[in-house]
Amino acid sequence: MPEIKLKCSCGKVKGKTKNVNESSGTRIMCCCDDCQSFAQYLNQESSVLDQYGGTDIFQMPISNIKITEGIEQISSVRLSAKGMYRRYTICCNTPIGNTMGPGVPFIGVIHNFMDNASTRDEELGKNRGHIQTKFARQEVPTELKGSSLKIILRSLSKLIVWKIKGLNKPSVFFDDNGKPIAKPNILN
Ligand SMILES: [Zn+2]
Ligand SMILES: [Zn+2]
Repeated sequence: MPEIKLKCSCGKVKGKTKNVNESSGTRIMCCCDDCQSFAQYLNQESSVLDQYGGTDIFQMPISNIKITEGIEQISSVRLSAKGMYRRYTICCNTPIGNTMGPGVPFIGVIHNFMDNASTRDEELGKNRGHIQTKFARQEVPTELKGSSLKIILRSLSKLIVWKIKGLNKPSVFFDDNGKPIAKPNILN
């Protein structure tokens, strides 16, 4: 399976994935208000969001991601006290991805952090559709909409398998005792 290079836009933070292809994870376009707020928070709306306000995300196990350079440049924000940890680089405000607590073997990597703009469809397959389209900035054409139910079921069943396989460790964001490596900012 292809290994994908990870890189922030200025190049200070680098890493790579392993074991990634169309069937190993789930590629979606998330139009939810929180993903849009995250892009806004980073002042990166034009580079992150598509015309519908969707963020191109690849969901995969956290342990299949490695940061090889610039880990000290990584910070995170939570849009609310119980929100996801949204990771980004402080060097150039590149969104990295969305993660949950230390026990959850999940990251939704945002396209900007994957150095594969020209080979993305080939490596990860086409996206499975726009979801959470009630938050979209303009009407999403029916043929671009994904079935939220189908995608949720797929994501959940993958999550269960990843959990059984223990793919929440090692994590680049938590130590082996589950303590966060950097303290997130929490927004109100
Ligand atoms: Zn950078
Ligand atoms: Zn979202």
